[in-house]
Amino acid sequence: MSRTGIGYDSHKLVTGRPLILGGQTIPHSHGLAGHSDADVVAHALTDAILGAAAAGDIGTHFPDTDPQWKGADSVGLLRAACDIVAARGFRVAQADVTVLLERPRLGPHIPAMRAALAAALGLPVEQVSVKAKTNEGMGFVGRGEGVATLAVATLEVR
Ligand code: MG
Repeated sequence: MSRTGIGYDSHKLVTGRPLILGGQTIPHSHGLAGHSDADVVAHALTDAILGAAAAGDIGTHFPDTDPQWKGADSVGLLRAACDIVAARGFRVAQADVTVLLERPRLGPHIPAMRAALAAALGLPVEQVSVKAKTNEGMGFVGRGEGVATLAVATLEVR
């Protein structure tokens, strides 16, 4: 039996913060605002994994009101989500992510993002997909106000 979960997240682009996506620091004039490192890719994927197990969401397990998560490495949260679903009898089998951002172009960073996410999930890189799209100038993504991410994860019974 397999189970599928969906995750979504968005963060605001601001000056004076690093842009961290999928565990990689991406050179850019702006970064993402947030309590943790604001890695929107790791957050969406964490929610997809938790969702597949009907195990709540990132906010219930790692609340942004808790000082222990201030500046947190969000790839660590992703690993913690794998442990949470493992305790419920599941393992992550596969993940697919779409990052929505207008700039910068993520193409050169995608292999490193896939490798970092696959390592966190304990999967071969072939089981982890990362894609990037612009929003064709439309909406908050198109205006460069923020970055959004959609993620899907499949779990199998351990
Ligand atoms: Mg978030």
